[in-house]
Amino acid sequence: MLLKMQRMNILLEKIEKFKNLVMNLGLPVEDIVLFGVLCPYCGKNDRIRPLEQPGNLKGELEEVELTDYQELWIELLNSEVENNGLAVCKFCQNVTFINSDLSAVKPLY
Ligand SMILES: [Zn+2]
Repeated sequence: MLLKMQRMNILLEKIEKFKNLVMNLGLPVEDIVLFGVLCPYCGKNDRIRPLEQPGNLKGELEEVELTDYQELWIELLNSEVENNGLAVCKFCQNVTFINSDLSAVKPLY
């Protein structure tokens, strides 16, 4: 029970860190709006934007920022193997999983 709570807290911490990084760096660099994809947190259907794979941000971010982004990206995606990417809602700033054809998102926890 305690272990489960600790794991949850660690995950929440990582999500918070990633959210702040995305906000502070103004990511994604390429602003693609996915119309019709519903945000599971705020219910808006025109604010979800897919985030770049870390490898596509080389040269766009400082080395140290890219390292943080990449580490968190891998850790967050590892918690749900079948998901292929991450997205952010530019209305409520929450980060979600996004499927490979960019048609649907899921909350991170
Ligand atoms: Zn939202």
